[in-house]
Amino acid sequence: MHRAFLAVFLLAGVTASSGAEPAVFSKISWQPQILVNGTACLFTVEVRGTPQRVTAKWLDRDLEFFRGPNGIWYSLAGIAYEAKPGTYNLAFSALMPDGRMLHQVRPVIVHRARYKTSRLTVPEKYVTPDPETLKRIEADKAIKAVAFAHLIPSPQWSGDFIAPVPTDMSEAYGTTRTFNGKLASVHRGEDFHAPMGTPVRAANSGEVVLARELFYEGNCVVIDHGLGFMTMYMHLSQFDVKEGDKVEKDQVIALSGDTGRATGPHLHLAVRWNGEYLDPAKLLALKLPLNP
Ligand SMILES: [Zn+2]
Repeated sequence: MHRAFLAVFLLAGVTASSGAEPAVFSKISWQPQILVNGTACLFTVEVRGTPQRVTAKWLDRDLEFFRGPNGIWYSLAGIAYEAKPGTYNLAFSALMPDGRMLHQVRPVIVHRARYKTSRLTVPEKYVTPDPETLKRIEADKAIKAVAFAHLIPSPQWSGDFIAPVPTDMSEAYGTTRTFNGKLASVHRGEDFHAPMGTPVRAANSGEVVLARELFYEGNCVVIDHGLGFMTMYMHLSQFDVKEGDKVEKDQVIALSGDTGRATGPHLHLAVRWNGEYLDPAKLLALKLPLNP
């Protein structure tokens, strides 16, 4: 619905970004201050007047902004693990009540993250799956694709994301891991020490879009926090929610376990945004606005 609006106003071709008038976009900022590949991030901007919609393009992604307290607009976003260090223009657009589209560009630097490497041993079936298992893995992919395509058009989260278990991290996001001395892959989540049966809490509010057993993930819950921002909880021993449930931040959604490709009981937390897996530790560190 917005897209049609946008097209009409773009055709009108009214833009303003020169220094001739006072800045429409001001106090552009982001968390964390140093942006690296794999991070979750929050952009904020003040926009003069009463725009009907504020968006931005950055790193080939469309960012949707929401009006927070005091006329500040914010967008929760992320940077792909594969993104190269460099300077990328954050291109804002604001649709004003009189139909004008206002634009401004701000260069933003992405630095290279320093991630680690590690070696793990797991049952051989998780490294060289047999044909029957490969079928199962393909079926899992289709199930996940449906869950990931779920769309809630506004943020469901409110305030900071919280750690789902009260224990320490055991393996960080971004670590390149070698399984059984052969398969190498990047760890696209964060592992927490979690003895069998530890209550696992929703990192923020949202809707459960997947709650079922998968081959690698084991018993897995996915929560959609709006606009394709999702958290995933893996290797669970028990579900306390089902698909379609609305959950509140801090609500117990499951018990931890060691199902799927796990070397022992732990909780793997993944953060997904627009098809990319982001660093959960960086998401948990963000200071986020309350959703009115
Ligand atoms: Zn993990």
